[in-house]
Amino acid sequence: MGSIAPPLQVAVVGGGIIGVMTAIGLRRRGINAIIYERASTWHEVSAGFAFTRAAREWMEMIDPALVELLGGMSGKSDASTSNAYWNGFHPRTNEEAEDESKSLLFRTPTNNLSFWGCVRSQFLKGMAAMLPEEATIFGKQLVGYDEVSNKVILRFDDGSTAEADVLLGCDGIHSVTRKVMLADESRAGFSHTVTYRTMVPIDVGIKALGQKVAKNACNHLGPNVDLLCYPVMSMTLLNIAVFAYEDSEFPDPDRMTVQVDRSEIAKVFQGFSPQIADIWKLYPEKVVKWGIFDLEDNPPSTYARGRACLVGDAAHASTPYMGVGACTGVEDALVICTLLESVQQKALTGEELKEALREALQTYSGARLERGRWIHHHSRQMGQMYHWRYGPTGRDPQRMKQKLEENWGNVVTYDVLAPLQPELRALARSHRKPL
Ligand code: FAD
Repeated sequence: MGSIAPPLQVAVVGGGIIGVMTAIGLRRRGINAIIYERASTWHEVSAGFAFTRAAREWMEMIDPALVELLGGMSGKSDASTSNAYWNGFHPRTNEEAEDESKSLLFRTPTNNLSFWGCVRSQFLKGMAAMLPEEATIFGKQLVGYDEVSNKVILRFDDGSTAEADVLLGCDGIHSVTRKVMLADESRAGFSHTVTYRTMVPIDVGIKALGQKVAKNACNHLGPNVDLLCYPVMSMTLLNIAVFAYEDSEFPDPDRMTVQVDRSEIAKVFQGFSPQIADIWKLYPEKVVKWGIFDLEDNPPSTYARGRACLVGDAAHASTPYMGVGACTGVEDALVICTLLESVQQKALTGEELKEALREALQTYSGARLERGRWIHHHSRQMGQMYHWRYGPTGRDPQRMKQKLEENWGNVVTYDVLAPLQPELRALARSHRKPL
């Protein structure tokens, strides 16, 4: 270390889960990361989401305090020892629906996934509290950027500009960074699925779905719809998400949400088992319907060009059927933090610094592109499978189970650091909490 060159200046565009996590990792490595967020304050929805054990291991290398934060919120334990997949369609009575011998399609062990769930908005706020105030500038919507001599100049919609050595586009699915970097070659598209989400106190969930279901991670499958639920926040809340196939185009692709009456949920579950068909009753009168978009039909050809690169959903926005979009962003964050730390340690200036940064960002893209594509591709397939629309698995529980286990295996055993040189791998691991 002992760098005599000034710290690298990194502009992180977007203060979502991955932008904030990346900025925490960079600042921990002595890099001056500044977040430029278009909103006027921290904003995230109050929905549940979860991180796998593998993602927590990568997160620990970014900063062990992140895992502590998540552990404090999730109760440091997975909700269950297996994921259960139920037939949401055929049972005709609540008794039958809760009877494993009649309605359980299959289970997959969670020992390798070991999800820890939390509420998104609380996790984001907890992470934000780890950053000094000056690390975030709100009300800055990126509209473009230019590379000028040895800097990248960011342009915002209020007419202001900012300068940095590197721009990390953590600006989500409709990334402006991606649009500028790739001259609009890659765009998010509608997956023809939508979701309706809510959270209820755990006792309300138990009353509606039974003890066995509400206290475990469960998915109820059926034609064109699935109902996912799992406990979050130390089993005090039940996170509920209905995912449905939708043939028509989404009315507002830019906003990706539309307000609807909860009777729409009743409609998508017509003909389903009574317990599932009644789930709409747990929703408020007016609910937000989220269009699910991803980059599957039109993925980026590279994640880096010049002094800019794409991190998180900006690079590989995925449908949520594999439940690991943010986990994949954690992987990106670790790789980019490690590569930039390595450049910073070399204390380069001028042309040498420019070349080292270019090379680091290209290495990042090379290390991440295939993984990102694999995730959004297989996530779409899993959604089709849950909706009994995926030809190779059809309605066959054994084939579904096999496909799921293959995919989960890949998710959790993938070695994020393998594409990097041994000294970079060691650098990444050096940030873990000492034993
Ligand atoms: P975002 O969260 O989209 O953040 C982007 C940020 O950039 C925002 O703050 C935005 O305001 C800002 N921004 C955008 N444009 C600009 C601009 N031009 N200038 C400045 N700022 C800008 N993943 C999991 O790992 N586990 C789960 O359990 C899980 N569940 C999910 C459930 C659902 C229903 C969905 C839809 C997704 C789920 N995911 C899950 C995926 C996960 O939500 C995303 O992968 C993750 O939120 C991406 O984070 P991000 O920071 O890359 O992008």
